[in-house]
Amino acid sequence: MLTEHHHHGGERRTVGFVGLGNMGGALAANLVGAGFQVVAHDAAGPARCPSGAQWAPGPADVARAADVVVLSLPDGAVCAKVVRELADAREGRVTHVVDTSTVGVVAARELAGLGPAYVDAPVSGGVAGARGRSLMVMYAGTDEDCARVEPVLAGLSDRGRRVGDRPGQAQALKLANNFLSATALAATSEAVAFGRAAGLDLAVMLEVLNVSSGRSGATAEKFPDEVLTGRYASGFSNTLMAKDVGLYLEESEALSGAAAVAAVTRAVWEAFAAAEPGADFTRIYPFTTGA
Ligand code: NAD
Repeated sequence: MLTEHHHHGGERRTVGFVGLGNMGGALAANLVGAGFQVVAHDAAGPARCPSGAQWAPGPADVARAADVVVLSLPDGAVCAKVVRELADAREGRVTHVVDTSTVGVVAARELAGLGPAYVDAPVSGGVAGARGRSLMVMYAGTDEDCARVEPVLAGLSDRGRRVGDRPGQAQALKLANNFLSATALAATSEAVAFGRAAGLDLAVMLEVLNVSSGRSGATAEKFPDEVLTGRYASGFSNTLMAKDVGLYLEESEALSGAAAVAAVTRAVWEAFAAAEPGADFTRIYPFTTGA
């Protein structure tokens, strides 16, 4: 990614931000830290507006202040509503939207047709990764559009990779990633329940799994950081994970047809999200054990 240079003497570069939830709040704070003038809005009000950012009462106010606007919103339908509001704002100046939300391939293609240039830029690495600037920003868009927004992407995180030239391609990679992450976490929960029932200690299981072939992000990070500690505070909800695996199942059935495991993974996450809507997604372990 391009290295961001601070302007000397000139006006601070302004960037818009809509969606200051668990992930968006951390990303907007990173932009402030990188020296941007951030003009930010969230439908829930100013409580999560990071210090140093300027609060905007609505998307139209963001559109009047910035030509590049970053989104961190729940799903494609909300993104479409907000992009329309940005595009239709009286005296708005938005030319580029950087969408860090997970919306799926189909929605990204639709969003790219709404007016402003659209760079599909979903993220992986969690809220802790966002705060530590190690979050992976995978992005796809035309040469011109990517070049225009790369300074903003560099403000979001130190890690980024352009994965394609068409919006939707980064979403495909993000959905593939979250399918793997969701499957590994659900499978690890069952494997740990099995080991515990046989009398094994959780910490000992993780120690051995993490130098054996069953290791994954679930054994290396989620179980040690959130389950073993009892924190269950990763900042990513089961509702959003159920959305992601649902999108993955739908789109993989349509595009590749290879979705036997995905059907099971989706059923497991839907059951968990229905039983405990909004719970931290790492609570799938106690859910699995019936605790
Ligand atoms: P969240 O639910 O914590 O935050 C979403 C925010 O959007 C909320 O603050 C909500 O008030 C706001 N919002 C909803 N509708 C709005 C509207 N019409 N206008 C303005 N604001 C609106 O969710 P999150 O965890 O921050 O996730 C945001 C996106 O990032 C999702 O697409 C998610 O899948 C993705 N994501 C999250 C994580 C994570 O670890 N939390 C990781 C990777 C990707």
